[in-house]
Formats: sequence, structure tokens, C-alpha cells
Amino acid sequence: MKNTKYVFVTGGVTSSLGKGIIAASLAKLLQERGYSVTIQKLDPYINIDPGTLNPYEHGECYVTNDGAETDLDLGHYERFLNIPTSQANNVTTGRIYQAVINKERRGDFLGKTVQVIPHITDEIKHRIQILGNTGDFDIVITEIGGTVGDIESLPYIETVRQLKWQLGENNAIVIHLTLVPYLAAAGELKTKPTQHSVKMLMQSGINPDVLVCRTERHLTDSIRRKLALFCNVQKEDVIESIDADTIYNVPNLMFKEGLDSVILKKLNLSTDTKPSLNAWNQFLQHHKNPKHTVEIGLIGKYVELHDAYKSISESFIHAGAANEVNVKIRWIHSEGLTEKNVPEKLKGLHGVLVAPGFGERGIEGKIEAVRYTREHNIPFLGICLGMQMAVIEFARNVLGLENANSTEMNSETPFPVISLMEAQKNITNKGGTMRLGAWDCTLEKNSHVFDAYKETLISERHRHRYEFNNEYLQQFTAAGLVATGVNPQTNLVEIIELPDHPWFVGVQYHPEYKSTVLNPHPLFVAFVKACLAHKKE
Ligand code: GLN
Repeated sequence: MKNTKYVFVTGGVTSSLGKGIIAASLAKLLQERGYSVTIQKLDPYINIDPGTLNPYEHGECYVTNDGAETDLDLGHYERFLNIPTSQANNVTTGRIYQAVINKERRGDFLGKTVQVIPHITDEIKHRIQILGNTGDFDIVITEIGGTVGDIESLPYIETVRQLKWQLGENNAIVIHLTLVPYLAAAGELKTKPTQHSVKMLMQSGINPDVLVCRTERHLTDSIRRKLALFCNVQKEDVIESIDADTIYNVPNLMFKEGLDSVILKKLNLSTDTKPSLNAWNQFLQHHKNPKHTVEIGLIGKYVELHDAYKSISESFIHAGAANEVNVKIRWIHSEGLTEKNVPEKLKGLHGVLVAPGFGERGIEGKIEAVRYTREHNIPFLGICLGMQMAVIEFARNVLGLENANSTEMNSETPFPVISLMEAQKNITNKGGTMRLGAWDCTLEKNSHVFDAYKETLISERHRHRYEFNNEYLQQFTAAGLVATGVNPQTNLVEIIELPDHPWFVGVQYHPEYKSTVLNPHPLFVAFVKACLAHKKE
């Protein structure tokens, strides 16, 4: 049983400063020093989870092994730490209130008025300490979403104040991440926004222990001194976070600035073991010095917002490094694709990935893209909806099943090659009711997927409602689209391939959620390799 210590990360001045990356980088350094660490994200919005949010609003919805639909920061945590997260690692205000209101209905507070303090703050405290109470972690890092001063973050900030006081000095500390902007007209870095942000935090009773300052220019000694003086910290507690060329270099930058040792000292933990970032830096080395370049088309309907496909683009970085290849992504909007313009829009690509998605918008364009890659022997990876589109394309254009479709898009289709499982048919609630989380899949030995994974039993994460309709399986197999991966419990088709094509794979699951820096996903690695081979042809 470990005596868990807590590090809270708050943000000030503006959003998008990269709290998630700072938290993940700190966690990486602590992990490399031999500490067991996990990271948690508290999100101040009222949705129970981001599963019902449009990606335009919130970026990608990430999925954990235990089937939680979470904030995309959890993806960064897993990619950096190489250990899985779970439902406990992401909590929203909606979930907190739901738990408290359920208790109220049960009568747990009988006779009492239920209030933000103490009932909501107690629930938040409980959710923070769930991870610590497992006894598995030396350190739990909790990132508070939003910016200090937001109305909706107030209960979280108040909870941090209470916990910091209750757990005591060396057991709970606060990192405050702020912006130190450079004013070109004045030729100077400005500390005032940080001073104000810290003042705001202090009004809530919290004195930050460490300041991490996002900046475009190096902090001078006098700026550091000024920040320390005005913000109640020591000069060595002012950490510069300069813009990095890649997020994967931030652990190195934080180490140079001494963030990890400052934190360990404050937590009264040993700094004797230095972090070894050997494997990590080997990856960086490959990432920064590729021998080849391939261009892969990412066909999706949210391509204006790259964050909507965060895990996919990061998986390409990991798989690119593994192949010593720079993967250039061409973002292609599925909505504008037609039979006529596909040859032009896909021209010169070495591979095509058709992305996950929901609803009808853009699907005909995805189908046209699949057709082009199938007919022109271009390596293809279809993920979730992308796999479903490959099935529909084959049904329409090879099997001759006119108007074949998924019942998600057309409930009246004469050929429902993608349809709902029995278990899904009576579900009416949208939130948290898809097939979610990790499921087993057995692979055919004679397949591209087996060549990639090199094992016959895999487990991958899912997030979808519709499935390959097994009533058509024989017809597909006979015509050359085969199921090379099947769920051993339910017999559902999880992977389809075209053995007559150089590399054509569609997966019902999301491999991108499991790719990490130290474990690039085998399917992405194989796909990038196939793209490189195609280029060399
Ligand atoms: N909309 C499809 C389904 O629900 C695919 C979902 C996805 O791509 N994640 O089955």
C-alpha cells in the first residue's frame, strides 16, 4: 500500500496552454525515476461524458479499456506513460452531480440541505482519492480542466484548497500553468497576466507551489525573479515552458528546467534516481530524422479540426518513427468527394485512411474514396465507420447489391450489410450505450493483420453501435472480401481484408487508442510500411 501524494495542475490566463502535455511530461519523468504515477482529468462541463459531444466542440472522444468515453487528454496520458487509464481517470461535473443527486434520492442525506460545499466538494474529493486509495500509485496528478476564474471550475478549485490543507504540505501541491506573452511592440515578455492569474487563485485560498510559464521566448533571470516575487514562489519554482517543435520533446524540456526535481523535493520524495529517457529519445531521434516520406490521405468529415482525429495522427507519428518514415497527412473532406474528383483529390497518395464517424454526412464521399483505393491497389486502412464504408462499397460495386447501406444511414435499405445487433435494437438512450471498450478478437493466420500483430488473440477498443451483418458473410467471402478477425464470444466480424489487394484492411475497432510512443500500434506500423512499399513501386 503506497502513501499516495497528489499534484494538482491548474491553468490560468487562457485555455489551450497544454496542461495535459505538461501533466503527461511531468508524469513521464516521475515514472522514469521509478515512481508509479497516474494522471486524472477533471472536466467542468455538465455532460456525463464527452460521448454525446460533437467532435467540433470537443475534439476526439477517447475510449479506455473499461469502456469509458473520455477527454482526449487521456490519450496523451496513455501515449506518454504507456499504461492504460480507466473511467476513474476522467470525471465531469455531470458525473459528480449525478452521483450526489442519486445519493439524495436514496436518502443518504436525509434531513439535510444538499449544497455545493460540502456535498459536491466531498464527491469531487472522493473521485480524486479513488485513484490514490487503490494503493497502486506513489503520485496522482490531477489536471483541472478550464481556466482559474471560470464559474464552472469554482467547486474544483475549492476542493483542491480543502485537500491541500487536509493532506498537508508535503502531500499535496499545486502547479499553476500560465502564459507569459511577448509583446512585440514593447519588445518584452509580460508578467502581469500571470500575476493576475495567481492573484485569482489566491483569492480562492490557494497559493501555487510551482509556476509553469508558457512562452515563445526564453524567460530571463529578471523575469523569473519578478514572477517569483509577485507570485509567492521561489525563483527555482518558476519553470519555463517554451514552445516545442513536438509535444514529445516536452519531457526533455521539463527535465532541463528541473520541474520533476522541484516537485519531488516539495513532496519530500527522493531525487536520487535520475530519469532515463533512452527509449523515449530513441523514438524522438527516429521521429526527427526520417529516411523517407509517405503521404497518407485521411478522409473524414471533421478534418477542419485536426483534434477530432488526435489519436490517429499521433499513431502515425509513432508508426512513422518505427519505420523511420515521415508520415505527411493530407486532410481530405469526405463531403466534397465525388466519383469525378476522387482521382484528383487522391492523386499521389501512398495510402488512404478512412476515418471513424457517425451519421450520414460525407459517407458517399468515403465510399468513393474506398472504391478508388480498392481499384488502384493503394494501401487502405478503414477504421470503424471506415471499415463499414469498405463493406458497403464492396457490396454495391462488386456484389452488385444496389443501394446496399448501413441501417444507420438508411433504415429502408434493401441490403443492410451493416446493421444493428439484436442487443442494440431496444436501446433508446444515446449516452454510453454503444459497444464500448476492449473486446477480444481472433485472427486468421493467413492475413495482413496476423502478419502485423504476430499473434492470434488480440484485444482492441470499440466505440460503435452498428456491425457487419453476418447474413451476408458467405456472399462477401465468395467474392473475395474475407473476415480475418472475429470476436470469439459473439462471432461478430471485427476485421475485413481483400487478399487480392496489396494491403486493404478494415477494422471495426479503434487501433489508434492503443498506440503509444514506446508501443507503436502494430497495425499502423504495418500500414505505414505498406504505404512505403507502394511508394517505392
Ligand atoms: N457510426 C458507426 C456506428 O455507430 C461507426 C462509429 C465509429 O466510427 N466510431 O457503428
